[in-house]
Amino acid sequence: MTATLIDGKAFAAGLRQRIAAEVAAMRDRGITPGLAVVLVGEDPASQVYVRSKGKQTVEVGMNSYEHKLPADTAEADLLALIKRLNGDPDVNGILVQLPLPGHMDEAAVINAIDPAKDVDGFHILNVGLLATGQKSMVPCTPLGCLMMLRDHLGSLSGKRAVVVGRSNIVGKPMAQLLLRDSATVTIAHSRTQDLPALCREADILVAAVGRPHFVKGDWIKPGATVIDVGINRTEDGLVGDVDFAAAREVAGAITPVPGGVGPMTIACLLANTLTATARVNGLPDPE
Ligand code: NDP
Repeated sequence: MTATLIDGKAFAAGLRQRIAAEVAAMRDRGITPGLAVVLVGEDPASQVYVRSKGKQTVEVGMNSYEHKLPADTAEADLLALIKRLNGDPDVNGILVQLPLPGHMDEAAVINAIDPAKDVDGFHILNVGLLATGQKSMVPCTPLGCLMMLRDHLGSLSGKRAVVVGRSNIVGKPMAQLLLRDSATVTIAHSRTQDLPALCREADILVAAVGRPHFVKGDWIKPGATVIDVGINRTEDGLVGDVDFAAAREVAGAITPVPGGVGPMTIACLLANTLTATARVNGLPDPE
């Protein structure tokens, strides 16, 4: 059996279309959502992300504000910019592209963002709100994974889910979202024992490890839904954390890399910006 491909690229295109329609309706009421993206330094991968974020923001009809600062910017200057953006009514979402240069305290910078404009969902308040099941801004990558899982599986209730990776930006919030949807969730990491056996129990397997082809085909329960978050640059091009060719023969459904989780992440950033704009204007959350 060959797994169904979960086409993140097509899903993201559909989501962007729905967002564009909502933005058009908001603009009719005199509201234009605005997203500010701050890039410090010249990390090539970050530059690519920031460029595509800006492009897609404009394509759905939102305003895009890009702030590029040199790598040696003082933390105080970055904090001053964030303060200014927090107070700017035209800016509904603020994203500080990570990683930041080594001399900056990443947590302090993220926690300086107004939680209502924290479209990455990394502010400590949003993390706490998500963990306690309250309305929050949800990190984009796991939100995209959740949307694809719901779309493919319908209800996640009672499913066994294993998330490999416990980072604050992917693994932990992914686990929270799965738990919120009543999956039975296990978080695995580098100290987990007998990871292959654990993975074999998973109806839903999310790999967010950062190692090319780390999850093998025989770690996968036949028929499982596999979400591959990994983006690894190798000599063979961009590959995921899952051995795709082998996994495809066992899984029920799988996201490809590229074309799976990646496109959904930026679409969810736009969705979060729309949500932030709706909330600040007293409108209901977009669907
Ligand atoms: P991190 O490096 O922050 O976290 C990796 C996690 O994997 C850690 O929790 C680590 O465990 C775990 N891990 C590492 N080695 C092993 C191992 N041998 N066995 C089990 N677990 C292990 O990465 P991120 O969460 O930031 O990203 C993960 C991947 O997702 C990367 O490839 C990244 O590029 C990609 N990514 C993709 C995005 C997208 O839009 N598609 C967005 C964000 C990330 P421990 O905590 O014990 O060290």
